[in-house]
Amino acid sequence: MSLRQWLIDLMLIPGLSGHEGRVRQYLKAAMAGLGIASRTDRLGNLIATLDGDKDAPTVMLFAHMDQLGLIVRKIEANGLVRVERLGGVPERALPAHGVLFCVGEGRDVPGLIAHKSHHATGQDEKYKVLPYPELYIDAGFRSADEVLAAGIDIGTPIVYAPSVTELANGRIAGTSVDDRAACAVMVEVAKAMIEKKTRPTIHFVFSVQEEFNLRGAVTAAQVLMPDVAIQLDLILATDTPDMAARGEVRLGGGPAISLYSFHGRGTLNGTLPHPAMVGLFEASAAARKLPLQRSAHIGALTDLSYVQLVGQGVASIDVGFPMRYSHSAMEMCDLADLEQLTALLVEALPRIDGGFSLDRDDYL
Ligand SMILES: [Zn+2]
Repeated sequence: MSLRQWLIDLMLIPGLSGHEGRVRQYLKAAMAGLGIASRTDRLGNLIATLDGDKDAPTVMLFAHMDQLGLIVRKIEANGLVRVERLGGVPERALPAHGVLFCVGEGRDVPGLIAHKSHHATGQDEKYKVLPYPELYIDAGFRSADEVLAAGIDIGTPIVYAPSVTELANGRIAGTSVDDRAACAVMVEVAKAMIEKKTRPTIHFVFSVQEEFNLRGAVTAAQVLMPDVAIQLDLILATDTPDMAARGEVRLGGGPAISLYSFHGRGTLNGTLPHPAMVGLFEASAAARKLPLQRSAHIGALTDLSYVQLVGQGVASIDVGFPMRYSHSAMEMCDLADLEQLTALLVEALPRIDGGFSLDRDDYL
């Protein structure tokens, strides 16, 4: 299996936050195929440990399996379905998209998010975004009874209809690039780490509920008590006209590290990476002649913000791949970035050895 194939397979498996079972089954089998056993905690995190040097700091490398989506809120008498948002769902990117109701046991029912007929759209409506309570899903049913008979009920998870589109220059667009691309990278990294003679103990954690409450990975960290946490997720690409003022991260420009993330609205959290981790990735990129992009921005964070606070503190860093069009049904990444991210991690992880200091006073 290639990185490209892991990615494509993973993008096509539905796994709304709290309903990651099918993604987990796939990844469990992938890790078992490499000869690495895994276990699942009560929240649903999949944890696979590769033992290494007892004197080296222990590492938790993690990426989230879940994706954002919708939940059935109300079934109308005429068979149309109303929804709640789960995660940061962009309402203006919803109408006229296909969706999938995941009714259990791997059964899915297709539907679409209705978009008012253009011929009947008044001048004042044309540039208006409909708030989600006004949206409805049409799955072809003619009554509430038909909806219920199909296995759809209040609380049924809904995801964007899974899709993969291969574009020019090795770019791939579709559903759940966030964060299945990083899950695919983790499998490739695990494969490479098996062969390394010197390596730290690495816990590969495929985590849950990141898009819901950013804390799914915390239960894994509380049990594993790692010294180091490396979180793999998207880094916002800023090389489109609408993002130009926000940074210098280019799609296809290679992997990136985050030097600063913050989110204020109620969340009040973020990550300032441990200096040892910044130095590790800079040195590893230089040694392999890999590009390494830098990101610093407000408005988004990952579950690493909470993981870093476990125990006496975990030396943490967000590392990722550039991605465009986040949280839409058509997110875009570049395969070359994912390959270089894999190479960067394969170079960096064995450098975490017995002499690798996490003492803050060694980094003044
Ligand atoms: Zn993510």
